[in-house]
Amino acid sequence: MAKSKYTNRRRLIQGLAMAMLLSIPLRLVCFDLEDEYIRVFGARFGLSTMFYPLFTILALILFVVFKGMKKGRIFCSHLCPMHLFLEIVNSPKNKTSGLRPLKLWGWSLLFAFLSVEVVLSFFQPLDNQVRLIASGHLPLIGIASALFLGFLGLFVHYREHFCKRGCPYALIQMLLQSNTTRYMEFANPEKTCTNCRGCDDICPFNLRARFESKGTDCTNCNLCAEACATELGEANTLFHLIDPVPEHDAEQPGA
Ligand code: SF4
Ligand code: SF4
Repeated sequence: MAKSKYTNRRRLIQGLAMAMLLSIPLRLVCFDLEDEYIRVFGARFGLSTMFYPLFTILALILFVVFKGMKKGRIFCSHLCPMHLFLEIVNSPKNKTSGLRPLKLWGWSLLFAFLSVEVVLSFFQPLDNQVRLIASGHLPLIGIASALFLGFLGLFVHYREHFCKRGCPYALIQMLLQSNTTRYMEFANPEKTCTNCRGCDDICPFNLRARFESKGTDCTNCNLCAEACATELGEANTLFHLIDPVPEHDAEQPGA
């Protein structure tokens, strides 16, 4: 399947987001409990300057909220590791594989382990964690076990259902959505749809893309448009990302 420019850009942003997350287990971004400073790629922020990284995080959250108002649920499709997980386990190849349960558990264990490490490594390097757990440090064993079981349940059982109904960002996006927010349109005026179901099969959120792409569950990932382009040709895809023009801008001058 030919990847669109949109998908290539999305993959790049997704890769950078994953690299940022993995920089925590690598201790490039972390909090030093003993000396009480935050380290961000070699720069140190003590108690008096800690507001710099915290302010940056707050600014990023506000930027995401602002973007969400205009571009829809792109935080999920561009930055969230859960979306990447769903793209893997809900890919057409993995959905129909006879080894699906095995693959689902394998990917879930990997993502759960990495998620726990991202949280714990922010405060303790991995070798310290291993040493403390081996010496029977009950608080750390309890926190690590609870986190691991929680993430494992999320990945194995809840998956896209959590994204649709349980994730706080889904609620925020629902409140931000307006009639000027970007959406994925399905239009079939020439009735050229072959009912191949390629768009449904590829949707990471298991949406019936032709009927549900316009709702707040859609992450505007563009995968259904690419699947349709593969079936009908690049110029004939029946899915299009639409940026609605605000009504007052669409009005004719003097009308
Ligand atoms: S409907 Fe299309 S754009 Fe929306 S989440 Fe599914 S595949 Fe992505
Ligand atoms: S991929 Fe295109 S042609 Fe195939 S079912 Fe979906 S809309 Fe129809």
